[in-house]
Amino acid sequence: MALDHSTSIIIIGAGTWGCSTALHLARRGYKNVTVFDPFPVPSPISAGNDVNKIITARSSSFADDSDDEAYVARKLLEASMEGWLHDPVFKSHYHETGFIAAASSPANIAKLQQQAQGDKMSKFKYLDTPEDFRKTMPEGVLTGDFPNWHGWHKKTGAGWVHARNALISAAAEAKRLGVTFITGSPEGHVTSLLYEQGDIKGAKTADGKEHRADRTILCAGASAVELLDFKDQLRPTAWTLAHIEMTPEEAALYKNLPVLFNIERGFFMEPDADNHELKMCDEHPGYCNWVNSPADGKRKSLPFARNQIPVEAEQRCRNFLRETMPQLADRPFSFARICWCADTPNRSFLIDRHPEYPSLVLGVGGSGHGFSCIPAIGGFIVDAMEGTLDPKMAESYRWRPETAVDRDWNDTQGRSGGTNEVMDFQRVMQWTAIGSESKL
Ligand code: FAD
Repeated sequence: MALDHSTSIIIIGAGTWGCSTALHLARRGYKNVTVFDPFPVPSPISAGNDVNKIITARSSSFADDSDDEAYVARKLLEASMEGWLHDPVFKSHYHETGFIAAASSPANIAKLQQQAQGDKMSKFKYLDTPEDFRKTMPEGVLTGDFPNWHGWHKKTGAGWVHARNALISAAAEAKRLGVTFITGSPEGHVTSLLYEQGDIKGAKTADGKEHRADRTILCAGASAVELLDFKDQLRPTAWTLAHIEMTPEEAALYKNLPVLFNIERGFFMEPDADNHELKMCDEHPGYCNWVNSPADGKRKSLPFARNQIPVEAEQRCRNFLRETMPQLADRPFSFARICWCADTPNRSFLIDRHPEYPSLVLGVGGSGHGFSCIPAIGGFIVDAMEGTLDPKMAESYRWRPETAVDRDWNDTQGRSGGTNEVMDFQRVMQWTAIGSESKL
């Protein structure tokens, strides 16, 4: 069926990419769009429901478009930055405070050096000594010894965004433009796709209702694996984050700081203005949750929600603090949670029409870097639905099960930290006990 503005469209998932897609559909004039989610926006299980996320260029070789990967990364970055700088829905949530990438081992220092040299578009200041690091922030913030740290400071074109507020803003504007949100459980909880005559004709929700549509767009993040056989193209993988409460005086001192990211230790951004909480993540290749799926009995990593982190993750966070801000290293956490994303084998997104089900569109595979593009990603997902996606993007983001045959589930996919291996929640014996359920 050809598309027109009355085409009925269902989006499964009102998270980062689902809200962006809803917004772009509405802006292109689609009048019959409905989004389903088991939770009101911001969903507590959305990876985007977070005080902050990093914004920086991912590709190291934007100097020219000599290879397709650089072209695709540049196009995505330019469209996203256009939104962060100029779109009224997003621009107040972007803070261009700069970004410091650092490492501690010779191999990772060399890797960062290569990336900095390859990025001809940005200017970097090399940070060689502990004093160099300390001087990047006001006195009293970075008091640590930075043992073996080397880094590159990029002062412009990077920083952080208030993720949760940007997500709420995208959903509010989509609603204002006429998109319907059906949220909460059971009515917003999609339990299966509607398979009919070799196609997908909508979705079924936990209240037993069938919702028919001309097009169905699957944007359920890491949970998408529970609704479709992705032929091993998605690996739900979780990371760990924690908050520390700051005093108002500390929050004032920590304002407008660059993001500090050691690719083997962890990262932090300035405390949020409302709650004065400093968020940090320990860095590692991620956790899977290997279980036999109740749906088909196959061994799969299945996401679950938990407002705690493994005690080993807490220790990594505290080690990171000891090296950077020892004055905070023993302060209690006010909040912690695990946060899921879906990794493709090469960490490029998966945005395509399904080859077997013509009415099903996929917008998944954030692969740990899918928030920074919230202003633009929905536009590319709609392009895929309309069949107008830039050919190089379409090639990079295509349905590609051949790349996941005999997938190495333990592949660290270029990430470092901790014991440098993908971990399994089934083997975690101890979790933090933080009374923060109310913040879900
Ligand atoms: P989500 O935002 O998770 O949305 C999925 C939605 O689907 C949720 O709202 C959920 O409630 C809904 N859903 C689930 N099941 C169902 C169902 N059955 N029916 C209906 N709806 C359902 N990216 C960056 O660019 N910069 C960063 O600094 C960064 N940091 C990160 C830190 C951590 C700890 C993690 C985990 C990720 C980070 N990312 C970052 C990645 C980024 O957050 C994700 O790639 C992006 O948010 C993924 O968006 P999504 O829409 O695919 O998934």
